[in-house]
Amino acid sequence: MSALTPHQESRHVLVTGGAGFLGSHLVDRLMARGNKVTVIDNLLTGTTGNLIHHHNGTSKLNFIEHDVTESIDLEVDQIYNLACPAAPIHYQADPIRTFKTSVFGAINMLELALKNKARIFQASTSEVYGDPLVHPQDESYWGNVNSFGTRACYDEGKRGAETLFFDYHRKYGIDIRLARIFNTYGPRMFKEDGRVVSNFIVQALRGESLTVHGDGLQTRSFCYVDDLVDGILSLMDSEVSLPIPINLGNSSECTIAALAKLVLQKTKSKSELIFLDLPIDDPKQRKPNLDLAQELLAYQPRVSLSEGLDRTIAYFQRVLAHEPN
Ligand code: NAD
Ligand code: UDP
Repeated sequence: MSALTPHQESRHVLVTGGAGFLGSHLVDRLMARGNKVTVIDNLLTGTTGNLIHHHNGTSKLNFIEHDVTESIDLEVDQIYNLACPAAPIHYQADPIRTFKTSVFGAINMLELALKNKARIFQASTSEVYGDPLVHPQDESYWGNVNSFGTRACYDEGKRGAETLFFDYHRKYGIDIRLARIFNTYGPRMFKEDGRVVSNFIVQALRGESLTVHGDGLQTRSFCYVDDLVDGILSLMDSEVSLPIPINLGNSSECTIAALAKLVLQKTKSKSELIFLDLPIDDPKQRKPNLDLAQELLAYQPRVSLSEGLDRTIAYFQRVLAHEPN
C-alpha cells in the first residue's frame, strides 16, 4: 500500500457499524494511521468493548450511539458505511428494521457525503448474487435473489443500497466506493453470532455437536478479516475514480462439511456432526471472481483458511476461558 500524505493522515473519518466485527477492525487500522475517527453504531450486534482499547484518554476516537435510519449532521472527510446486521439469524430477527437500516442508512450517509463532499464506502455483499446460477461470481452477474423470501430483507436491502449509491453518484457526482464482501471471519465475532465459522469453533471447543445445515455440500469461500480490511482500505485510498462494484474476499472455496472437519481436527475436538435442515434460500455455492480487485487494487488475500482458523480458534479459546463453568 502506498504511503499516505499528511493530508490523508489528518482526515476525519466516519465509520458506521464501527462497534461490530468488521467495523472495529477497520477502526483499528484507521486509528493506527493517525486518522481522527468517529464511530456511529446503535449497538444492535456490536459492542463498545470492541473499541475499548482506544479509550486511553488521548484517543482520537469518538463514539456516538446512533441509529443510521435517523439522519445525523457531522463534519467529516470520508465515510465508511458498514452499519447493518450481517448474520442471517440477526438480520432475520427484525427483517423490516434490517431493510430500513440498509436503505434509510444509505440515504442518510449519502446525504452526509453530499453535504461534506466526502468520499463514501458502502459495505455491500455477495448476497446480492442470491443463490447464484453463475460460478464463480463476477461483478457483471445480476444475481438470483428471491425478493420475498426470508433472506430478502438483507439481500434486497443491500441491492437497494447499491441502487442509491449509483443514483447519488450519477445525479450529484458523489465519489462512491462499493465492495461486495464475501464471507469474512476472524477474532471479535460474537460467540452467539450464528455464522458458520464462529458456530463451529465454539461448538467444537465446548464439546457440542457441530450443526451442519443440509448435507454440508454447499460451498463458501472464507476470507480472513485482515485481508478484507486491506481490500477496503485500498479501495478507499485509490485516487482513481471507481464507481463500480468490486468483489472482495478470498477465492479459496470449501464445502461446509469440509470446514466442520477442519475445525474438529484443529481443535482436537471429539464433537460429532449433526445434520439439520438447510435454511430456505441458502445459497448452494459461492466463490468470488477477484480479477477486478486484483487488476484495480492489486488486491491479494494472504491468510489461508488454515492460518485464519488457527488465529480465530485461539481467540475463542481466550473468550471461552473467561466463561463461568
Ligand atoms: P456485525 O453485525 O458484527 O456489525 C454490524 C454493526 O452495525 C454492529 O456494530 C451493529 O450494532 C451496527 N448496526 C446495525 N444496525 C444499525 C443501525 N440501524 N444503526 C447503527 N448501527 C447499526 O457485522 P459485520 O460482519 O461486521 O458486517 C459489517 C458490514 O459488512 C455489514 O454492513 C455487512 O452487511 C457487511 N458484510 C459483512 C460480511 C461478512 O462476512 N462479515 C459479508 C458481506 C457484507
Ligand atoms: N451453516 C451451517 N451451520 C451453522 C451455521 C451456518 O451449516 O451452524 C451453513 C449455512 O446454512 C450456510 C453456510 O453455513 O450454508 C454459511 O452460513 P453463514 O450464516 O456463515 O453465512 P451465509 O449463509 O450468509 O453465507
